[in-house]
Amino acid sequence: MKKIALLGATGSIGSNTVDVVTAYPELFQIISLTFHSNIEEGAALIERLSPQYVGVGSEEIREVLAKRFPKVTFGVGETGLVQAATLDAVDVVLTAVTGSVGLIPTMAAIEAGKDIALANKETLVMAGKWVMAAAAKHKVQLLPVDSEHSAIFQCLEGQQKNNLKELMITASGGSFRELTREDLKTVTLEQALQHPNWSMGKKITIDSSTMMNKGLEVIEAHWLFGVDYDRIKVVLHKESIVHSMIVLNDGAYLAQLGPSDMREPIQYALTYPERLPIKNEKEFDLTQIGQLNFEPMDFERFPMLALAFTVGKKGGAYPTVYNAANEIAATAFIDGKISYLQIEQFVQRAVEAYNETNEVTLAEVIVIDKQTRTVVERWIEEEGYL
Ligand code: NAD
Ligand code: MG
Repeated sequence: MKKIALLGATGSIGSNTVDVVTAYPELFQIISLTFHSNIEEGAALIERLSPQYVGVGSEEIREVLAKRFPKVTFGVGETGLVQAATLDAVDVVLTAVTGSVGLIPTMAAIEAGKDIALANKETLVMAGKWVMAAAAKHKVQLLPVDSEHSAIFQCLEGQQKNNLKELMITASGGSFRELTREDLKTVTLEQALQHPNWSMGKKITIDSSTMMNKGLEVIEAHWLFGVDYDRIKVVLHKESIVHSMIVLNDGAYLAQLGPSDMREPIQYALTYPERLPIKNEKEFDLTQIGQLNFEPMDFERFPMLALAFTVGKKGGAYPTVYNAANEIAATAFIDGKISYLQIEQFVQRAVEAYNETNEVTLAEVIVIDKQTRTVVERWIEEEGYL
């Protein structure tokens, strides 16, 4: 029986994880979970899963739920996330919170010797160097949940590292893939939230349309697989059937294919190295799909993808600044405070404003994350279009 801490249980990855876990009650148990603000959904999960420990986003939520569920221990905010992730009984932590809040509980879990099933890519973008070093030091497994990284991880199994030539990450192109930059001036939130292939949380859906998501994934792949940026390629693949590929020295391509169903990579991260059937599997018939298409990525159309390679190569806290500015700007767009193209403008500007070439420590990275948020919030207040 694998005992799981599920951080971000009410989200899109969170609910897919609950589906996977409840399909195999003899294999998995959710010992602790966290959610931020959706109290109805959170309460329903507590009833359904009977966790020992629950982390919530505010003192008010804790008070209400502590009365309703007297047997459960509750924690709030960062403390709640860290305690949920480090309980003695926990074997593996599935990190499905959005944004940089994932970093501290993930590090705490690694230091407590817990295996990590990592959905929260922002953690590796911000602090890949320290997270990977801590995982090696504490001998914990860090298994990818992001579909592209799960695909690469699966393709790499059994390969010698020196056989690898390149990683090839596929990108669907997001909701605006057919639009020109001129068209983007007038797009709305509703349009941005219509992802052609995947149903996901709001922030990652916006990030997919700006290609910020792919940028974050490039940096995530660099850390997870220890591959230089020059050997990470991105290819436009509108069907999202090939989840990603690896290219070997002799020119062989290995790809992982499957339906657009996050339960697959989630379940694999939890059952690795075993494979089990997915309950109520989505229909997947290549003869119905018929064609798979691949096109080069247009870096001018998607400047956030180009910027990912720039900040990734610069290293230090550059990726942190890139990510933090985007978290604030994408959320401001979701909240109707800025226009769509302002997301890119604020990210670009934050990266240009950052100018540190010295080595940084993890503590400094955490401070730079906060500073970047404050600065971008101020820009939005002063210049947002509402
Ligand atoms: P979501 O918005 O649907 O859910 C986010 C979860 O995090 C919720 O449970 C919410 O309560 C919690 N949360 C939000 N803000 C918080 C805060 N400040 N403190 C504590 N908890 C907070 O997001 P999602 O789409 O499930 O994505 C989660 C993570 O997984 C992201 O890092 C995303 O990039 C990654 N991811 C998602 C998908 C997908 O299919 N949705 C695919 C690959 C990777
Ligand atoms: Mg992905």
